[in-house]
Amino acid sequence: MALIVQKYGGSSVANTDRIKAVAERVVATAKQGNKVIVVVSAMAGETDKLIRIAHEITDAPDEREMDMLLSSGERVTSALTAMAIQSMGYKSVSFTGRQVGIITDSAHTKAMIERISAERLVKAINEDKIPVVAGFQGIDESSDVTTLGRGGSDTTAVAIAAALKADLCEIYTDVDGVYTTDPRIVKEARKLDKISYDEMLEMASLGAKILHGRSVEFAKKYNVPLVVRSSFNYNPGTLIIKEDEDMEKIVVSGVAADKNQARITIMGVPDKPGIAANLFDAIANANIVVDIIVQNISSDTKATDISFTVSKADSKKAFEITKDVSDKLGAKGVNMNTDVAKVSIIGVGMVSHFGVAAKIFETLAKEGINIMMISTSEIKVSCVIDVKDTEKAVKTLHDAFNLAK
Ligand code: ADP
Ligand code: ASP
Ligand code: MG
Repeated sequence: MALIVQKYGGSSVANTDRIKAVAERVVATAKQGNKVIVVVSAMAGETDKLIRIAHEITDAPDEREMDMLLSSGERVTSALTAMAIQSMGYKSVSFTGRQVGIITDSAHTKAMIERISAERLVKAINEDKIPVVAGFQGIDESSDVTTLGRGGSDTTAVAIAAALKADLCEIYTDVDGVYTTDPRIVKEARKLDKISYDEMLEMASLGAKILHGRSVEFAKKYNVPLVVRSSFNYNPGTLIIKEDEDMEKIVVSGVAADKNQARITIMGVPDKPGIAANLFDAIANANIVVDIIVQNISSDTKATDISFTVSKADSKKAFEITKDVSDKLGAKGVNMNTDVAKVSIIGVGMVSHFGVAAKIFETLAKEGINIMMISTSEIKVSCVIDVKDTEKAVKTLHDAFNLAK
């Protein structure tokens, strides 16, 4: 008997027929003698709809209220899924994040899970009930509802699997697994049988929305065996595990793209110690994550330009903060470009191979794609480019590194 956490994404619970199909899969797993905990997302499109409605009321909705609003989507599907399981003759009970003791920090709309007390989950399982947890949500120390950021139900599932030391966490979605790149952009993309936690972490944080980045962090930290597979068929999926020897032989395992980016440049700041600290402290204090940073020194003027990227969602706030800092420092001004995207190449084998970055630059140059910023680590190279070139860049890089089937 194994303990299995199964997470079903928005497309898997998009309507009542899909919810019944999910219930069948859950019951089939239970019939094989396993204990199952289910985590569900909101119905496909529901979270987007709620965000749209909020913006019909106000341009800048309060983040605490957004969390109250957005958490409702998952609440609906958890109750419906429990009903569907019950109607197949099995005991089931739905829970909100709060009811299963998911405690987060207070960073509304992108909260981080701090701990899970899970007593009710354990009790339910011991009573042979199949718990269905509303994903994507928790509460903070003051009992305010929080959400975990877009795609956050994956993290709910992995965190529960880690807390209860589950034998397996299955992420059910609308594609057969993790591919060399988004199969909706590149038809020739190849499904990976397995991928290391580190590569998956990079892929996810670089824009492959197949998994929420934080879910992979949890999986890695607590060694949770993770599988991504389709809820629409019985194909085996992709296993996400610790790196092994075969993996190191593969130089490049995937290409990711992220259009959810904005580049902010502060121009003509005095070139002296403490400037960057000033700016990035102010941004960090607003819970905004800065990604790529580039600083140029122009030799004649003793002034420098600093460019950095943030997510589009944070861009307005980051722009305002940067303007304030610019005024205080007597800089020349601030501009923002929201028509940018980041394309990245990921692979653990890069550590021991030369020339990957050079090949990327050459490939993009041949297509006439201008690179605005570059950032590298041991296992990835990222380039910021014009958003209109995204698909072209992904396709040609995927081709150049022979990733196709
Ligand atoms: P869910 O609603 O099940 O959480 P998501 O829409 O969040 O599903 O994630 C699945 C989608 O991720 C796929 O439909 C696919 O378009 C996209 N995707 C992006 N990169 C990849 C990749 N490398 N492999 C597989 N899917 C990817
Ligand atoms: N419903 C949320 C979203 O659309 C969370 C999730 O699906 O994982 O982002
Ligand atoms: Mg998702």
